[in-house]
Amino acid sequence: MSVDNLLDSALVRLDEAASHLEIDPDVIERLKYPRETTKVRLMIRMDDGSRKSFLAWRCRYDDTRGPTKGGIRYHPDANADEAETLAFWMTFKCAVMNLPFGGGKGAIQVDPRKLSKAELERLSRAYIQAFARIIGPNRDIPAPDVYTNAMIMGWMADEYAQIVGETVPAVITGKPVTLGGSLGRNDATARGGYYLVRHLAPELGLEGTMRIAVQGFGNAGQFIASLLAADGHKIVAVSDSSGAVRCAGGLDVDALITAKAAGKSVTSLAGQDGVEAFSADALVAEECDLLVPAALENMIHEGNAKSVRARVILELANGPVTPEADNILADKQVIVLPDILANAGGVTVSYFEWVQNRQGFYWTLPEIHDRLRETMEREGRAIWNIAGDKQISVRSAAYVQALKRLADAIEAHGTQAFFTS
Ligand code: NAD
Repeated sequence: MSVDNLLDSALVRLDEAASHLEIDPDVIERLKYPRETTKVRLMIRMDDGSRKSFLAWRCRYDDTRGPTKGGIRYHPDANADEAETLAFWMTFKCAVMNLPFGGGKGAIQVDPRKLSKAELERLSRAYIQAFARIIGPNRDIPAPDVYTNAMIMGWMADEYAQIVGETVPAVITGKPVTLGGSLGRNDATARGGYYLVRHLAPELGLEGTMRIAVQGFGNAGQFIASLLAADGHKIVAVSDSSGAVRCAGGLDVDALITAKAAGKSVTSLAGQDGVEAFSADALVAEECDLLVPAALENMIHEGNAKSVRARVILELANGPVTPEADNILADKQVIVLPDILANAGGVTVSYFEWVQNRQGFYWTLPEIHDRLRETMEREGRAIWNIAGDKQISVRSAAYVQALKRLADAIEAHGTQAFFTS
């Protein structure tokens, strides 16, 4: 699928969810289009003295339920369509979790690995200089995404503070803890998915020791592997952009994390203790109970969905399964725990960070974990029940739940029936 029609393909889910509800047409009209997408060119001074420009975007998709919320992605293929689609997903994700936020997303078209650290800081600060009028703790709250991290959020919060003349930590989440970040933000996405799987394990048929394959061994992938391995489950295969490794007896997750921290690929472990290297593309076909896509979009598609041998897919990445693949997986009775629920732990702890910044009172790590677990279990259970009641997929149920909440908020402003009666 071309990235040019990513938003159209995401909107298929909206239509599908609407077919299960009595929705006023106002709601669909409102949710079909992003509210605003701003495109800028960021100009920075490079280390060699030259000037270089980079395209950047910020999309605020919908703010009916609260200020827009969403990460900033640095990627050479970033584009407006992708930012709008990710912002659409954030709108639904925040509604699924019942957080008082709408959805937003930002991006810079850049390969951050080709920049020096000083250039990266200048670029990150330039992003905030360009978008300071758009973001704000009551308007639009960025966070990290692919190839952005806590330090970058710290630079951005500092730049915003310099522009507005006061510290406003709640303008950005995912900051370093010493700069007002929340405890527990680092592993929140993976931990949320972990709580969800653990809670629904009996219904998912995942009791006992699970065999797990993780696609993408970055932030989310490493943490989910650690959490599940700590419970005694076996991580039988993992991949990154350079390749994959498998080991039927279970991979040594700590050794994999050490290799990644040293800048090496997961394939650097091949040859040790029964660890075998294979192609990254073949990971989705690995024999396992739980497959965790934690890389990029559209990784499970029409061409490879038939080869999936997992019983359950936990979508930690955003949009890893295309709609065509979804149908194939449904026919194979593979249960997909959808991104807008499965990876919502990240935005949930971001919400906790925003709350703590605003109240100026900070919670302990056990308090964060408890609140996250409660939220994942409550919203996960509600969606599981909707799926059962309506005999629809878990993904459709998540969209139905989110659309219902969005519709209630949009309709509270009055619909056609109100204005014409
Ligand atoms: P990351 O950059 O830390 O990790 C991505 C990993 O995917 C890297 O190890 C990379 O090598 C690997 N990868 C890239 N192409 C691959 C391929 N073809 N095959 C296998 N692996 C490949 O990013 P992250 O923060 O872990 O995010 C991963 C996904 O999770 C993204 O879709 C992101 O939007 C989503 N997500 C992340 C968070 C978060 O808090 N980190 C929150 C919500 C959603």
